[in-house]
Amino acid sequence: MSPDPWTSFLNWLQTLIVPDWNAIIQMLPLLLILGVIGPILSLMMLGQVWYLLHRRRGHVRVAEIEPTPAERNADGDAVFPPNVPFCETHAIVYPPNARSCEIDGADLSVRCPIDDTVRGADQQLCRACGTRYVLGASQAPLVVRRTGHPPAGGAAVA
Ligand SMILES: [Zn+2]
Ligand SMILES: [Zn+2]
Repeated sequence: MSPDPWTSFLNWLQTLIVPDWNAIIQMLPLLLILGVIGPILSLMMLGQVWYLLHRRRGHVRVAEIEPTPAERNADGDAVFPPNVPFCETHAIVYPPNARSCEIDGADLSVRCPIDDTVRGADQQLCRACGTRYVLGASQAPLVVRRTGHPPAGGAAVA
């Protein structure tokens, strides 16, 4: 007596399924690597990239807010770069957003890059040449000229 079509179909299906399961079991280590270790490695790499990006950004921020001792010339006098707040008493150069000395709270000074006139760091206008400066607008102190307009392309500087 020959089996009915349904039974023979099931038998045929079983010969298909059983070797497949064996193959899958043999491939388990590979599937483990692809399905578990792969994502873990990807996450670790993403985390590393995330960490590096944040660390880099953090370092820039720290460098921006830290006052640094002024450089000295051959005579030992403090040399203050133009357009940067500084305390003459303690020879410290401050970040662009600083307005008072951390040691004694005295108002900081800023030297005009055009005519070397020293003004208070809270004043944005040089009284001698009339140029307006915005301290702390970017990492490099920005010089704003009224005749200036944005460069072609207009892409924002990160
Ligand atoms: Zn000071
Ligand atoms: Zn000036």
